[in-house]
Amino acid sequence: MTVHFPFDNSYSRLPDRFFVRQIPAVVAAPKLIRLNRDLAVELGLDPEQLSTPEGIDILAGRTIPDGAEPIATVYAGHQFGNFVPQLGDGRAILLGEVVGQDGIRRDIQLKGSGRTPFSRMGDGRSALGPVLREYVVSEAMAALGVRTTRSLAAVSTGETVVREIPLPGAVLTRVASSHIRVGTFQFFAARGDFDAVRLLADHVIARHYPEAAGAERPYQALLEAVVRAQADLVAQWMLIGFIHGVMNTDNMSIAGETIDYGPCAFMDEYNPQTVLSSIDAYGRYAYGNQPSMAHWNLVRLAETLLPLMSSEPEVAVKQAEEALAVFETVFSDALFAGLSRKLGLFEARDNDRELARDLLNLMNDNGADFTLAFRALADAAEENEAPLRSRFVVPAALDPWLQRWRLRLGEEKQSDAERSAAMRTVNPMYIPRNHRIEAVIRAAIDHDDFGPFHELLAVLSRPYDDQPAFAHYAEPPTSEERVLQTFCGT
Ligand code: AMP
Ligand code: MG
Ligand code: MG
Repeated sequence: MTVHFPFDNSYSRLPDRFFVRQIPAVVAAPKLIRLNRDLAVELGLDPEQLSTPEGIDILAGRTIPDGAEPIATVYAGHQFGNFVPQLGDGRAILLGEVVGQDGIRRDIQLKGSGRTPFSRMGDGRSALGPVLREYVVSEAMAALGVRTTRSLAAVSTGETVVREIPLPGAVLTRVASSHIRVGTFQFFAARGDFDAVRLLADHVIARHYPEAAGAERPYQALLEAVVRAQADLVAQWMLIGFIHGVMNTDNMSIAGETIDYGPCAFMDEYNPQTVLSSIDAYGRYAYGNQPSMAHWNLVRLAETLLPLMSSEPEVAVKQAEEALAVFETVFSDALFAGLSRKLGLFEARDNDRELARDLLNLMNDNGADFTLAFRALADAAEENEAPLRSRFVVPAALDPWLQRWRLRLGEEKQSDAERSAAMRTVNPMYIPRNHRIEAVIRAAIDHDDFGPFHELLAVLSRPYDDQPAFAHYAEPPTSEERVLQTFCGT
């Protein structure tokens, strides 16, 4: 039996300077940790075939499936504000693209499958911990309804990866609408290779934003489409307390998906200054800075497109500025539409933004858990205020706000039950809390026990449902459990 992948590889039809052909390393003893069967079916793959030894060899990079054209792609990027002209897939290999049952084209990439010409000092490998972390968080994001790369499979390699200490190695199969980044455009623009920038832009238009092809100014339309996608994406992050942690331009997807789950984290207590990444010493990518950092990255993208927009610099700059200006409106509209839904509002009124902002300020002052305070607001909509109050250091501080909120709710016709049900579809009960992810990783590494990993994934696959048997998964960490820093996934 051969494992069938419906490959059709458009990126590797681009000129040679976009990538290098690279066969994955042969690993010693692959074992399947988990296969995402539902996702496999969506992609037009057979989960039974993928679970056979031959399928597992493919997921580990030992066997190249028919139709795959393994490549490592080149890109550049601003890392924490500094431009690095030469990056690229240093520990990831793109097997190819499949067109799924839904007609959507997606990349299939192995992450952690050995060195490439872009590995620099790295070994091209992944340790088990970061693979489990990316699997859990990316799948949780998908279940929360946020655009993201997905995880098709995790396999252990039977090999040791040395970081500060020896650790078990693993490979993640990542699925993405594409792996084209802001940094891919920067790579060619920095070399003055505008033929390549144009080819890349045309590829992206055809693949992700076909409506831009028919626009009066296609490259301005492309930029505006990416700006819209990213502005909306970051608004969705803000609404669930997600902190990406390493929003370098090489980690910003042109397709508008969340990508590169390294030191990312969900915020427990609401505080816009929250930084969890160990490598973000100055808080550049703090929770509250994410919108402005996304905009900064999009300005870098705009710079690469200027020569395509017009041969007259002033004209090109004006087009770019028009496209970039869309960010603020799309972001704030998406954010406040989301906050209104979180507050249980069905209609829009003038003072709603203030009402939302004042609740967030109260949460900040009172150490309130972001996720559970919003979840408890649904109970408060049904006259049960105790769960909400319990999240605030000084519960009485909420009283004036609750009074305003109730007056505001009184202007709408929905019943309490209707309102609270709607609120529970946007205010999740379960998020991938850091201390839970750490516990999953410890059980896997120390005891070869993947039970907690599977259980956490099951709970997080239904983040908006009350799951009484798993209520403990909703709780924030105790002071002993609290994770102070998250580390870059290598
Ligand atoms: P990241 O911080 O994950 O966005 O990675 C930044 C750059 O470092 C990318 O070009 C990666 O491919 C590369 N890189 C990260 N980890 C490794 C590794 N273990 N081996 C080789 N390259 C790596
Ligand atoms: Mg990266
Ligand atoms: Mg990474």
